[in-house]
Amino acid sequence: MVTPDSILLSHKLRVTDCRVDIIHQFLDKQVALAHADLEDTLNNKFDRVTIYRTLKTFLDKDLIHKVLDDSGATKYALCSQDDHHDHSHEHVHFKCEICGETTCLESISLPAIKLPTGFLKKEMNLLVQGICEKCH
Ligand SMILES: [Zn+2]
Ligand SMILES: [Zn+2]
Ligand SMILES: [Zn+2]
Repeated sequence: MVTPDSILLSHKLRVTDCRVDIIHQFLDKQVALAHADLEDTLNNKFDRVTIYRTLKTFLDKDLIHKVLDDSGATKYALCSQDDHHDHSHEHVHFKCEICGETTCLESISLPAIKLPTGFLKKEMNLLVQGICEKCH
């Protein structure tokens, strides 16, 4: 069973209340969350700096990854927990135009692209917009 504690332990991170609560939010909602979303839910428990630092630690440890959508806010999603040493962020993200939620479609990997000589790829993002399973 994946729990906040087991995720923290497998990333060699100390268990703190804020870390546990933030992972809880990701596990619970199963969608990409922005800093503001977490702040709305957790702001009477933790200040914004603590939330910000926790997200930064999670990014550094590859526990979450950035998700680009058209909202303008940086969103984050939990990384695949099946094999956290060997997972890819190069999967499709899906933004629903009805509920506004963005989810990872881990099973759909991005197509290989060949860049012209002299261009160096750092990361690649593909956002599919439409209507999600729940809203369909
Ligand atoms: Zn990752
Ligand atoms: Zn939806
Ligand atoms: Zn993702």
